[in-house]
Amino acid sequence: MSIMVPSKTPALISPGRQALDSALHQLDQAAEHLGLDNGLRTVLATPRRSLTVSVPVRREDGRLDVVQGFRVQHNVSRGPAKGGIRFHPGTDIHEITALAMWMTWKCALVGIPYGGAKGGVSVDPTVLTTRELERLTRRYVNEILPLIGPEKDIPAPDVGTDEQTMAWIMDTYSVSAGYSVPGVVTGKPMTLGGSLGRSGATSRGVQIATLAALGRSPEGMTVAVQGFGKVGALTAQYLADAGCKVVAVSDITGAVYASASSGGLDIAALRTWVSETGGVSGYRHADALPLDDLLELDVDVLIPAALEGAITGANAPRVRARLIVEGANGPTTPEADEILTANGATVVPDILANAGGVIVSYLECVQNMQAYSWSSGEVELKLRDLVESAFSEVKSMAAARGLTLRQAAHVIGVGRVAEAHQMRGLYP
Ligand code: GLU
Repeated sequence: MSIMVPSKTPALISPGRQALDSALHQLDQAAEHLGLDNGLRTVLATPRRSLTVSVPVRREDGRLDVVQGFRVQHNVSRGPAKGGIRFHPGTDIHEITALAMWMTWKCALVGIPYGGAKGGVSVDPTVLTTRELERLTRRYVNEILPLIGPEKDIPAPDVGTDEQTMAWIMDTYSVSAGYSVPGVVTGKPMTLGGSLGRSGATSRGVQIATLAALGRSPEGMTVAVQGFGKVGALTAQYLADAGCKVVAVSDITGAVYASASSGGLDIAALRTWVSETGGVSGYRHADALPLDDLLELDVDVLIPAALEGAITGANAPRVRARLIVEGANGPTTPEADEILTANGATVVPDILANAGGVIVSYLECVQNMQAYSWSSGEVELKLRDLVESAFSEVKSMAAARGLTLRQAAHVIGVGRVAEAHQMRGLYP
């Protein structure tokens, strides 16, 4: 089976280009609100460094496949570049640029001292053996080696990568340096200097942001989660733990539903089912649901936790949830955003809702620098504090200036990066 992008008739505008258009539109709105001049707008709209590499991979049967890899550093005015690495067949340079830009605003919004970056390889990791994946990861890292480093650019997990991938990255970098450099990546396994609470951090942040946005007891509130991967599954679990009724979840294999009156889904049992079978489809204690219906269910809270462009101008008019909390990066297009807002729904934007991951990445770096580790309670307390403070800043800014939460979050994030850029001035 091919590990590269399946050759379909190319869409007029690729999903990656659509994501970048969305990111640029959001930047433009914030820049307009902040009254930034054209020169600064162009600086903020353009990646600082952008690298495309070819990654040859020797397959188990001896064949050689070549896939494309990317690493984009969008902005480093506030500190080293920070952001995950994605292994996904649909990834391209536009998508990675959009994701890097969102990382810049995300880090600025939650007040951690990083710029924004993202990396990716256009590959389907599910068709590779572990050894093929290791070879691919090491070769990709070798190609982007000049860019990364604990003081330059620090990768982390994203879609299709995990702590094993981070361990290979750390090892490849360390072998090249000649000594162990744990601080070159975050989301590492605990044995290599990882942080307690990192693997569930994005989901914990989504839970904290959801509860803050609800502003009332979560008891009995109904929730649908699109995506039952690293972020979605634990978000569903944490919201169920908080008293919500998670009535529907989906992944690429299908969607399942259990009504609130029947108690909703048993998320722990469903996670066990998924780890045994590879997907939610066929789970016996729930009804099957057509995939597209999940986003349109009559629930209190909708959590898109899969990929970009899930809620579009086409389906937004049918979204009935009053609160949408973005576990994924870029799941709502600008057109959908306008429709949701006009219909009175509240959207907690990605750069706020899913910032828990990079916040605990930052805490991991701080622990690595001190060669010390905090308890999971200490990590969670700091995470909670940063997400809740950012949430209340965004909420106050939105109320004071008549903005949506996304616009307010971007005004804060973009404003901080613009200020850093202006303070530093231009060289030469
Ligand atoms: N991939 C995550 C994100 O999109 C985490 C990035 C990081 O920890 O650097 O926010």
